[in-house]
Amino acid sequence: MTPELISLAKQFRLSVLAGGKFTANEALSGEEYLLHLLRAERTAREERATRERLKQARLPAFKSFDDFDTDFQKGVTRKQLDLLAKLEWIDGLYNLILIGPPGTGKTHTALAVANKAANDGYNVAFHTMDGLVHILKTREISLKSQARLRWIKKCQLLVIDELGYLPVSRGEANFFSLISELYENTSVVITSNKGFDGWAEFLGDAVLATALLDRLTHRCQILNFTDESYRLANRKQIFNN
Ligand code: ADP
Ligand code: MG
Repeated sequence: MTPELISLAKQFRLSVLAGGKFTANEALSGEEYLLHLLRAERTAREERATRERLKQARLPAFKSFDDFDTDFQKGVTRKQLDLLAKLEWIDGLYNLILIGPPGTGKTHTALAVANKAANDGYNVAFHTMDGLVHILKTREISLKSQARLRWIKKCQLLVIDELGYLPVSRGEANFFSLISELYENTSVVITSNKGFDGWAEFLGDAVLATALLDRLTHRCQILNFTDESYRLANRKQIFNN
């Protein structure tokens, strides 16, 4: 490639050409060559965008629908997981609430959803409730928190993991107003070890809890994970006896 071609490729951000990564069959006509080049550029851009979305999503672990054992967890069927994996519910602005005791696969399911969504072009953010409250609390003093909130508001999917482990007081963080803001734009996935009855307790306010539930459950799928802990059943030990 001539220096001028490399320089033009850079100027027009044709990364595959500029980076010398594009090789095509020499027998191609001019038009075919261009077509192959542009296709390669499109693929490279899509891959870059997916990598960036996955980075922004901040998933703490990789979990997939395929390695979720529905024989073990009877609270959710393979058919339901397949429907979740199609992600059409995100376009329909449905929320998903996963309730059940510890170790029953709630976070696994939320992570599988988040991973699929980020790979399929949705903007995603994954936070524990604690982490989210921290961001909300520090929004006035931390540029990082502000930037993260801007990203969350651009997301089509927000996962809030472990709602209900620690109490959130109304003054501490404006959790409710965030949920209200997201209401018409973003699907929310929540995992919780508490049923709805317990939500008022950790929100410290029955009126707030009712209003929150009203918003969240307007378009919503609730899944109850009820079986025994997968962690305990599949416990690995150092000693065999
Ligand atoms: P929870 O969020 O309900 O406390 P997790 O989703 O974190 O539970 O599950 C605990 C561990 O057990 C994770 O490593 C998860 O991948 C695994 N696990 C839980 N349920 C299943 C299941 N039905 N099939 C496969 N792995 C599971
Ligand atoms: Mg969990």
